[in-house]
Amino acid sequence: MEYERERKRLVNSLREYNISEKTLNAIKKVSRHLFVPSVQIANAYIDHPLPIGYAQTISAPHMVAMMCDFLDLREGLNVLEIGAGSGYNAAVMTEIMGKKGNIYSIERLEKLAVFAQENLKKAGYSNVEILCKDGSHGLPEHAPYDRICVTASAPCTPLPLVEQLKPEGILVIPEGKRYQRLYRIRKDMEGNITKEDCGGVIFVPLVGDHGFNMLCGN
Ligand code: SAM
Repeated sequence: MEYERERKRLVNSLREYNISEKTLNAIKKVSRHLFVPSVQIANAYIDHPLPIGYAQTISAPHMVAMMCDFLDLREGLNVLEIGAGSGYNAAVMTEIMGKKGNIYSIERLEKLAVFAQENLKKAGYSNVEILCKDGSHGLPEHAPYDRICVTASAPCTPLPLVEQLKPEGILVIPEGKRYQRLYRIRKDMEGNITKEDCGGVIFVPLVGDHGFNMLCGN
């Protein structure tokens, strides 16, 4: 299989982050070189974010893996991702979850929504639905979600996302502008919310009605 040795080397380099075996197996299976622009193929298996055009990035593999572990993904879940970008994170989530379950992934930039959809098709993932819109509103038509993964940094967690999370659901989201933290938010059976700080991160901004407004610079 193409780039298999590079993928194995990448997976070994991720062990220092204490990533679970099920997530490492998923990273080993997904062809990251199919999710980057052709000029970046030589860098595809370096544990680094890479430019995908339009001032956006495909996240570093260790960050994708950590977020998947924080989400505690399993078979048969209803999952929402905000920030499809290249489609790579959705592909890794699909590998962990298997064919049962749904993944909806929202991207606000049309060219990237098409890029993500084409990459997923090339790589053989047909069960991810990419939608082009402002994901800071969530996706009420397919709610509630067992898991919500936000891959862009918000000023604070958008309320619609919390509302669209199922009881016992998990939402993972970076918050902040220059100084960003990754949070894991859990909703219990009574609807109570707990918020856990998972550490410092660097993401592009979540731009939208419940995100940063690039026009007024907030
Ligand atoms: N998950 C992606 C991947 O696997 O390649 C990486 C995502 S990139 C770090 C963040 C993405 O979020 C960008 O493509 C950006 O256009 C998108 N984004 C920012 N604000 C958004 C919003 N309100 N709704 C949907 N997508 C948004």
